[in-house]
Amino acid sequence: MLGRMSTSRRFDRGHTDDLASFLTASPTPYHAVATAAERLEKAGFRRLAETDAWDGGVGGRYVLRGGAIIAWYVPEGAAPATPFRIVGAHTDSPNLRVKPVPDTGAAGWRQIAVEIYGGTLLNTWLDRDLGLAGRLALRDGSTRLVNADRPLLRVPQLAIHLDRQANEGLKLDRQRHMTPIWGLGEPREGDLVEFLAAEAGLDAADIAGWDLMAHSVEPPAYLGRDRELLAGPRMDNLLSVHAGTAALIAAADAGDLPYVPVLAAFDHEENGSQSDTGADGPLLGNVLERSVLARGGGPEDRARAYAGTVCLSSDTGHAVHPNYPERHEPGHHPMPNGGPILKVNVNQRYATDGTGRAVFAAACERAGVPWQSFVSNNAVPCGTTIGPITAARHGIATVDIGVAILSMHSARELCGADDPFLLANALTAFLEG
Ligand SMILES: [Zn+2]
Repeated sequence: MLGRMSTSRRFDRGHTDDLASFLTASPTPYHAVATAAERLEKAGFRRLAETDAWDGGVGGRYVLRGGAIIAWYVPEGAAPATPFRIVGAHTDSPNLRVKPVPDTGAAGWRQIAVEIYGGTLLNTWLDRDLGLAGRLALRDGSTRLVNADRPLLRVPQLAIHLDRQANEGLKLDRQRHMTPIWGLGEPREGDLVEFLAAEAGLDAADIAGWDLMAHSVEPPAYLGRDRELLAGPRMDNLLSVHAGTAALIAAADAGDLPYVPVLAAFDHEENGSQSDTGADGPLLGNVLERSVLARGGGPEDRARAYAGTVCLSSDTGHAVHPNYPERHEPGHHPMPNGGPILKVNVNQRYATDGTGRAVFAAACERAGVPWQSFVSNNAVPCGTTIGPITAARHGIATVDIGVAILSMHSARELCGADDPFLLANALTAFLEG
């Protein structure tokens, strides 16, 4: 466990403070996996290159690929057919991403051309101070992270005097209305690349490619009369990546484990997971299989290990909204600080079934953590996540869970300040078996 909860002081602000630091350090999926890797390294995990031969000895290892990380811990006495216990999550969040020809502008303003990534709540990006971060690909084949974490960009909203209907339902054209400004003057080709080169201490000619995105520079903050809520960016789904990393480290620390605990954090969930770093790609299967082979196993061992494996797919869900309670299922109203949620959809938008519920309930019970159920209102379509994809692609029993938040896919979301700690404890108990 990460820490025992006392009845007088149920949650651990230290964990939530740490989540806030994790969010700030991770404006992009590339930064999120680097932040997780740094923590794993400190806990003794070792990075493996996919191009190397792997050894299967006792200890923690991880693989990084783009914006995805798979980490696992081989406990003492693990056999080739020892099943895995997997915490799944995703590293990406809806946002604005820089187009290939970025330097643009109109009417005497310099702007950056952006593509909209995932199911962004566009209005939440208006009138925010935005930084720019991501990954630079250099001519020599290496990559470099860059993070200009200060106000650089803004998507300015039109004044109400120029749009008297704005409050009747704001209409934003994805192509015309979401282009951030970043200065005055005529657009100049090479402007952004020169800026990035200076930012990263490189020569502009060395930058051969990029994956860049905007982020709100406003730091996470406690909110509410009793500071019982946390507001911040990218909780969907760095909240789970953070909790999963902490849980894997705690499980590895516990020693004597009946399973091989795994953290699998994928990129590209927000657009369907189909990529070499997404949950619908072969990454997780390759890593698990190689870990079986590295321990001297074969196809039969792999099949036996998979048959006993369970994945808890952790992602955010919807807390009941006080201004729109009718959008929620009346008998299922998840509340912030009520503990993690079990997500159910019989049409397999979530992979949970009754046996999965039992596994999750048992983990929460061992951790002393309360939990809640989420199911959609029949009249409101249900979202989905990596759970059903993981279940279908690998044939692994999967349970969808998470934390109930408000304002999902906003540039600034809101969760209960207790819930990250409660989730991390439940995940730890699950990984420890
Ligand atoms: Zn999500």
